[in-house]
Amino acid sequence: MSDWLNVFYNLQVTETCNLRCLGCTLWNRDVSGDLEESLRNLIYNDTFFSIYPRRKIYNIIGGEPSNFRALPDVLSYLKNNSIKNYLWTNLTMDSENLMECLPFVNRLFVYLPFPSKESYENFTGEASYETILYNLQILKKRKIPVSFYCPVTPENISWLPDIYEFAYQNKAELILYWNPKRSTLSKESVQFLKRYKRVKNVWLIKTKPVPDTYCPGLPYGPMSDSLAFLRGAAHQLFLKYGGIFV
Ligand code: SF4
Repeated sequence: MSDWLNVFYNLQVTETCNLRCLGCTLWNRDVSGDLEESLRNLIYNDTFFSIYPRRKIYNIIGGEPSNFRALPDVLSYLKNNSIKNYLWTNLTMDSENLMECLPFVNRLFVYLPFPSKESYENFTGEASYETILYNLQILKKRKIPVSFYCPVTPENISWLPDIYEFAYQNKAELILYWNPKRSTLSKESVQFLKRYKRVKNVWLIKTKPVPDTYCPGLPYGPMSDSLAFLRGAAHQLFLKYGGIFV
């Protein structure tokens, strides 16, 4: 397993977020500034890899990474050092910010807890659904690959067919996940969820608890200590993309 871990690095550029998803408190944090200045210095002095490891893949995560103003600088620096960038985002940044990042991003993983304006905005506490739709059009025009990721909960399980349809219409993969040790999904809901196991372009994975400072929406650390992992979707995802799926 340790060789695998040498493939990727999760670079958390911020703990803050612009959304206010139910059950998440990261949006309430104010930790701006510190990392921004230090990363800018490391890039300016070309000493980034004396602090951070050189890896094939960098997962750029938050909070919401676009809250971090030096994001385009970090992405371009990594790309110039032949590192693949995967941006894990809620895609609600303004389109100018998005376009600044796109030349340096290999794939966007987009958080999609709900697939309609009302349900999305009720859950995230923000009027930003149109922004996501608009930004998706930009990604389509630029031919930037997208995957959606969705933590499955009792609140959104009835939306799964619509979430799948949304991903299908956008020709994107869908990563569905739940944490069996903490989930409050009923047995019936888990059975229903497992139907998606064999659906094309859907990845169904069991995850571990997300560290407190990470966006709780991330499909972090799939259960990796069993043979089931080696045979399962998380392993397949890792072979395909590397990174956060271990
Ligand atoms: S769950 Fe993630 S996207 Fe939602 S408010 Fe928290 S950090 Fe932001």
